[in-house]
Amino acid sequence: MTKQAATTGFTIQLGARARDVLTRLVRAGYPHETCGVLTGVHADGRTEIRGVVEARNLNTERAHDRFELAPDDFVAADATARKAGLDVVGIWHSHPDHPAKPSKTDLERAWEGWSYIIVSVGKDGVKDIRSWRLWNGDFVEEQIDGE
Ligand SMILES: [Zn+2]
Repeated sequence: MTKQAATTGFTIQLGARARDVLTRLVRAGYPHETCGVLTGVHADGRTEIRGVVEARNLNTERAHDRFELAPDDFVAADATARKAGLDVVGIWHSHPDHPAKPSKTDLERAWEGWSYIIVSVGKDGVKDIRSWRLWNGDFVEEQIDGE
């Protein structure tokens, strides 16, 4: 079950440029599930995305509905972020032909304190972008602000 963002007040800032990068990566990867790292800054329950980095999906057997982010890609993204004074603030992945809601597998792997952006994508392009946070063992949706 998911609760509304209003109950927790989490907000994520996803500017037009970051949104464009995310859209491009997700569309290019379709019909496979694509994934990557979100870099940016945290402040007062608010997260600002500055970078959207693609990572390899190591799960090639079920690439349409599972992702396993390549650890070395994560390490590289983390190092690049730190050099720029940023942190890893979350993970993004796509749900080809499925709603932008977290799966049970997504929940099992989630860490508290990170944002999980899920992009629903179909053959005609991106349908929905939603962001989730682990909170007391469950996902709550966080509000996405534009520029
Ligand atoms: Zn998922």
